[in-house]
Amino acid sequence: MKSISDSKNRKILKTAKLYRTECREAILKVLLKADKPLNQKQITQRLGKKRFDKVTIYRTLESFCEAGLVHKAFMQKRAWHFESAQDCSEIQCHPHFTCTNCGDTHCLTEMTLPMAKSPHKGFVIRRQQVRLEGLCPACA
Ligand SMILES: [Zn+2]
Ligand SMILES: [Zn+2]
Repeated sequence: MKSISDSKNRKILKTAKLYRTECREAILKVLLKADKPLNQKQITQRLGKKRFDKVTIYRTLESFCEAGLVHKAFMQKRAWHFESAQDCSEIQCHPHFTCTNCGDTHCLTEMTLPMAKSPHKGFVIRRQQVRLEGLCPACA
């Protein structure tokens, strides 16, 4: 588990021009510590004793996404999985690998893929998010 200092946490919020709230600080901490994208339910569980209502957590995640602090990495079982944007570049997120056997998703932070070029005129590609599927080491 990565250790995240409160001052780093605060600096990130400040850079993103977001007011510090207890909920924002707590959720940001959870996402910075996580080693893979989490859905809202998992985030709520990791917040532990700090109880925030569903709507507050949802709005906080949305404000993080709008500010570019957090990315919606992928959707699984009808739920968005969120992750901190710190391991992504401006134009692309690191690829995510989902095991078709156990369903686990891994962040491939070391992997960079060439940006796709549109074969069709008039489409401007601004960001790239790639999702890979196959078997993880435990299932292969
Ligand atoms: Zn697996
Ligand atoms: Zn990731």
